[in-house]
Amino acid sequence: MMDGNMPDGYGRNHYIGGGFRPADSGRSGPVFNPSTGAEIYRTPYAGRTLVDEVAALARRAGRDWGEASQARRLQVIFRMREIVAREAENLARLVGLESGKTLSDAMGEIGRGLEAVEFATNAPQVTKGEYSRNVGGGIDTFSFRQPVGVVGCIAPFNFPVMVPLMMGSMAIATGNAVILKPSERVPGAAARLSELWTEAGLPAGVWNSVNGDAEAVDAILEHPGIPAISFVGSTRVGEHIWRHGTHHGKRVAAYTGGKNHMVVLPDADLEAAARAFVAAGYGSASQRCMAVSMLVCVGEDTAERLRPLILKRIAGLQIGAYDTPGMDFGALVTRAARDAVEAAIDRALTEGGEMVHDGRGLTVAGGEGGFFTGATLIDRITPEMQLWRDEIFGPVRGIMRAASLDSAIDLVNAHEYGNGAVIFTRSGGAAARFCAEVEAGMLGVNVPVPVPVGHHNFGGLRRSKFGDAHMFGPDAARFYTKMKTVSQRWPDEAKAALPLTLDFPGND
Ligand code: NAD
Repeated sequence: MMDGNMPDGYGRNHYIGGGFRPADSGRSGPVFNPSTGAEIYRTPYAGRTLVDEVAALARRAGRDWGEASQARRLQVIFRMREIVAREAENLARLVGLESGKTLSDAMGEIGRGLEAVEFATNAPQVTKGEYSRNVGGGIDTFSFRQPVGVVGCIAPFNFPVMVPLMMGSMAIATGNAVILKPSERVPGAAARLSELWTEAGLPAGVWNSVNGDAEAVDAILEHPGIPAISFVGSTRVGEHIWRHGTHHGKRVAAYTGGKNHMVVLPDADLEAAARAFVAAGYGSASQRCMAVSMLVCVGEDTAERLRPLILKRIAGLQIGAYDTPGMDFGALVTRAARDAVEAAIDRALTEGGEMVHDGRGLTVAGGEGGFFTGATLIDRITPEMQLWRDEIFGPVRGIMRAASLDSAIDLVNAHEYGNGAVIFTRSGGAAARFCAEVEAGMLGVNVPVPVPVGHHNFGGLRRSKFGDAHMFGPDAARFYTKMKTVSQRWPDEAKAALPLTLDFPGND
């Protein structure tokens, strides 16, 4: 299976109503092994008819699941946690095969996905209601939460297991049915996850996975039976998802692109900063929304001292196939992605960037057709350059220089994205000011990648997130449920009947 073959069914079929379902529309697209460049199989693209069918089925299945006791729902979540932990290595191989990510990196992603499953066991705690006794005239008022019904989860390629688990576990735990639309570039792991939900005891039709492209997504966005949409992906697509979904009356949480700056002050531990920059900058071939992409050195001297420390580490990085032991990172997801990254490097040089380490044109022995680019570092990036403006989803990182902490903060805030940002310093006061003034959703102080643990909310600001809701962390439970408030009176026959009045009711 690991030599470029995918087990039967995975990615070649949809997963609907508790089992695999063949293609319906006649449309399909290629799935590659990025480590060799070979096409492994073609995945079917669902059409509108199939989306209609699965939405109707999910609605019926979700109604029963939403009425299942909390205890019953949690049993499934607990079993899913054990099953995913048991299957982690196999899932990691599916992830690596289709995304190019190294096996150790894929295991890391699955570990973070497990955190989301574990946190979903808190669903009863984070959705419990409120009760006020005798608010007036013998009336008690209480609020409770119910599942929204069916949730459409539209996932990106770069976390084929973690994002579906983060989006889906709380949706399931709060009593919804899920229609997952995995990235068409990595549909295999989602298929396996779907089987695992069934093995965990989830009734047929509560978790479905529909493969496809924009046509399937738009059918989900427009379907009146799917009231909530979780999306993770690029800003261009996420903005469309949010606009189109809300236009169709849905609640939408869309997590999108990032450009994460790492500010280093002259007093920082520069060895620690260099280690963090290389790990968070180049891990996963920089295909992470939380990857550090720009190093902002405060003061020329900081830049001159830090640059060789980083260069030494970059020069030693090992790049190769997902299943070659000891690799630091693997291939980019597609040939087009690799070509776009190399074009961005070319342009940065013509715009005045200074090459520090050139990773273009990398060939890996045994993977000559693979979509590889080596680690690239370019100094003297300025806000006028495309390398700063665009999210570059590949291993080219930049160095910028700022005269002061104030101008570094201004630079970070001048970018349209606000996913994450970190500062390295020994000054508590500078760190506090950075956290108060930087407009990013996830901030770090002397840590490489500020991805919060599962019981804290995750999500960016500005054009890194569309919609008010969070889909990970405690707020996810509120996003996936609707609140009802009941005012009730149980008449006490011993008391006289109230007089009739048509005035707006008070609570005397
Ligand atoms: P993408 O936007 O290309 O695709 C995401 C999903 O949208 C896929 O399922 C795809 O099929 C679908 N899609 C693509 N084009 C569409 C269209 N025109 N209409 C409707 N649906 C469409 O993103 P990607 O390349 O798979 O993932 C990488 C992006 O995801 C990066 O920008 C990264 O920063 C972002 N990301 C963000 C977070 C976060 O938490 N903010 C996490 C992971 C990834």
